[in-house]
Amino acid sequence: MLRLYMFLAILGLSCLTFASPPRPEIKKMKYWIHESCPSRFRDFDSAFKSALRIARRTWDRLNSDTDDNFHNVFNAIFKVYEEEDDYKDRLQDVKDTFQRVWSLVETKKRKEADIRVYCDNDAIYDPRIQNSNPDNRWHRKKDGRYYDPTNKMYSDGKNNLGPPSCSDTSPSAGVTYYDEGRFPWSSWHYSITLCDVLFSPKFTPEIARLNPLVIDEELKARDWNRFAIAHFSHLIAQTILHELTHATSKGIIRDTPLGYSYEWHNLMAMGRKDALTNADSHGML
Ligand SMILES: [Zn+2]
Repeated sequence: MLRLYMFLAILGLSCLTFASPPRPEIKKMKYWIHESCPSRFRDFDSAFKSALRIARRTWDRLNSDTDDNFHNVFNAIFKVYEEEDDYKDRLQDVKDTFQRVWSLVETKKRKEADIRVYCDNDAIYDPRIQNSNPDNRWHRKKDGRYYDPTNKMYSDGKNNLGPPSCSDTSPSAGVTYYDEGRFPWSSWHYSITLCDVLFSPKFTPEIARLNPLVIDEELKARDWNRFAIAHFSHLIAQTILHELTHATSKGIIRDTPLGYSYEWHNLMAMGRKDALTNADSHGML
């Protein structure tokens, strides 16, 4: 027993000697895209690749010592400033989030994918409803919970009885579901649904021109200098990036504070603690 205490004491001391322990290696996660995505939106693949490219570009710019402009945006969103002691650590946290996203690799095999992406608007099979389609991904169970037998996960983790979010009364653009795995050592896996509102928001043509959905050549050629960053929140790639920050962070990056986690004015108003764990703050950067 004493030996154990001595061992623990030495371990405690050795922990103290390392002021900042080495960061865990960033695991390369795999993603898989369900056929509902290219059939729901023709340019889906390029929108997804754009999200990964944006993550890479953000990471590159955060790594630059001379890109003051971008570091100012980083300070404004995350309220982390260079004169603070933990500046380097917090900057590294944000960099790691983007690195986890850009280093994702695609697989064609669903079973080996950590992240499975669907664009089926969270279709539900409800045996109480006549002609409900049993091929739909979510199944309403007798206890009122919603289960996805293909990916073996509930829509609400272990908590309440909420239906999958695309079918909510105020539907989201995208949702990330996760399953922690049956054992502490099993790896988590995730599913992302990109909902119908993402692909066909209710815009008039003039508003649609100001709120682009995809990054194309025409969009790049326009002069956006006088436009607020909020106009880009409708980009499909932005929502994909938002969901990927949830799905690559083991639930650390959430939507915080609840109810005020989206939209530029909320991002500007929130404190650093919320900003550092908020998906949209990362998505907007
Ligand atoms: Zn979110």
